[in-house]
Amino acid sequence: MGKVVFENVGKTYDNGFNAVKDINIEMFDKKFTVIVGPSGCGKTTTLRMIAGLEEVTAGKIYIDDKVVNNISPKDRNIAMVFQNYALYPHMTVYENMAFGLKLRKYPKQQIVDRVKSAAEILGITYLLDKKPKTLSGGQRQRVAVGRAIVRKPNVFLFDEPLSNLDAKLRVQMRTEIQKLHNKLKTTMIYVTHDQMEAMTMGDQIVIMNDGEIVQVADPITMYNNPKNKFVADFIGSPSMNFMNGRIIKKGTDLFFVNDGGVQLQLFKHHMDKLESYIDKEIIFGFRPEHVDDKIFVPDAKVNTIMKATVDVIEPMGSEIYIYFKTKSNSFIGKLNPKVQLKLGDIVEIVIDMEMVHFFDKETEETIV
Ligand code: ATP
Repeated sequence: MGKVVFENVGKTYDNGFNAVKDINIEMFDKKFTVIVGPSGCGKTTTLRMIAGLEEVTAGKIYIDDKVVNNISPKDRNIAMVFQNYALYPHMTVYENMAFGLKLRKYPKQQIVDRVKSAAEILGITYLLDKKPKTLSGGQRQRVAVGRAIVRKPNVFLFDEPLSNLDAKLRVQMRTEIQKLHNKLKTTMIYVTHDQMEAMTMGDQIVIMNDGEIVQVADPITMYNNPKNKFVADFIGSPSMNFMNGRIIKKGTDLFFVNDGGVQLQLFKHHMDKLESYIDKEIIFGFRPEHVDDKIFVPDAKVNTIMKATVDVIEPMGSEIYIYFKTKSNSFIGKLNPKVQLKLGDIVEIVIDMEMVHFFDKETEETIV
């Protein structure tokens, strides 16, 4: 078992700073939960409270239905992997991995068996006699994970474990940690500021901002149904585009319009929710993949089109990012690399109005 539950949990540091505010959440047994959010939002504090490395100053944390607030870290059956690996430099890889078990006075043969088995799982048997300073970043990271595995904990905690690795290795290790989770079937709780890691690894994403949980959902729900503008902006790369404007009614139809001459007709499924916003200010959001050159959408309806100027072109190989400017806005499109656009071109851009989002101007909560 390895279910972690937060009940009205808060953390106020000794200097009075309230880093985590009244959090309620269930991190499911055997699932992979990713806690994501911008720097300083309280992710690490949250993880360290689960580990027992940080005192809980309000509420209760349960592990498998038992309150652990006053249980010491070593008695929580949890293993944590840190960003800086935290390996002992004077010990070999074997000794690093065996250290925690020795401290807990495991029988010698059991230590040998567990270290060997973890090393095999991680493909690091050939490193067992080496010292950490002779290893690459990726190898050190595997050893740090190995040291956690040998403990056979009920819960693994990862604090930005890949942030010291180069981009390619980060992607590779991301996959390896996912495979490890599939193999071990143990609860994993993983902190990152990288939305891509959150999207690709998590069964469940917990997005935090300013010490609070903003939304808890699986990756696809988080992407398609963000709770507010903050989540819509944070999840997805490049980020969602936003435009300020208002809703107007013409006959029976609703339109999003703004001072830059944008006039886009709303789809039926958006109209019901937006009736009460007629003639009011609103924030319109659309993802870069829902932007296209009219050349590729010859039958696009006139009220799904914006005129825009090509400002910056970023070829990515399999796709191309184009930064467009209108009279009053700029936005990014993720287009087919076959597109034949040049800097300064004035083009007709089609927005997939079925997929767009609207946010309340005051609260920034999602309307639809
Ligand atoms: P990052 O991604 O930058 O590591 P984070 O989301 O993990 O950020 P935390 O490390 O949990 O954020 O810190 C949350 C807030 O609490 C920050 O504003 C930080 O400055 C503050 N904080 C952290 N540790 C302490 C401390 N010991 N005393 C006072 N404030 C602290």
